[in-house]
Amino acid sequence: METEKKDKPEICFPEYPIAFILGRLIFLSIIFGSGVYVFYLLKTELSFIYVFYSLLALSLVLPLSRCVFCSYHGKLCNVGWGKVAGYLFPKRSEDNFTSGYDYMLFIYPIWLFPLLGGLVQLARFRSLFWLGFSLVYILVLFLEKVYLKNSGCRFCSQKKICPGVPFNSKKIN
Ligand code: SF4
Repeated sequence: METEKKDKPEICFPEYPIAFILGRLIFLSIIFGSGVYVFYLLKTELSFIYVFYSLLALSLVLPLSRCVFCSYHGKLCNVGWGKVAGYLFPKRSEDNFTSGYDYMLFIYPIWLFPLLGGLVQLARFRSLFWLGFSLVYILVLFLEKVYLKNSGCRFCSQKKICPGVPFNSKKIN
């Protein structure tokens, strides 16, 4: 078993195929769309704040804390954002890839706020719809991480040093 693993050639994509990127973008669109939806129903202004916060975090925090230090800077990473970051900010040393990882704390709310919104709606209306929304949302979050690990991290040239591999394991074959 161990020998099989060792013999398996390691594949790292220099750039990700569009089909892989689209898969991830579909998951992320569902997550982001759920956030806009739930906050719009809670209070219209909240949905604007959510959109504004997400755009700010994705165009400043993510590129400056991760993408500029990544080997996919200027290229199509598993979510395609490396290409965008390449237009926004100049590349820095890849040796510092993990240096800004703590700032990812500002990215997580994009994922977690919609769930919080769904739970607030559930507490307000005690309806099956909001129970279903919250449970399906948790499932989507989980599946998105499974997808990231298996179609992103598995083929990523940063996987050996990246602290962001889902489910606390860097052992990807
Ligand atoms: S190892 Fe996974 S989380 Fe880390 S940069 Fe690569 S794809 Fe992203």
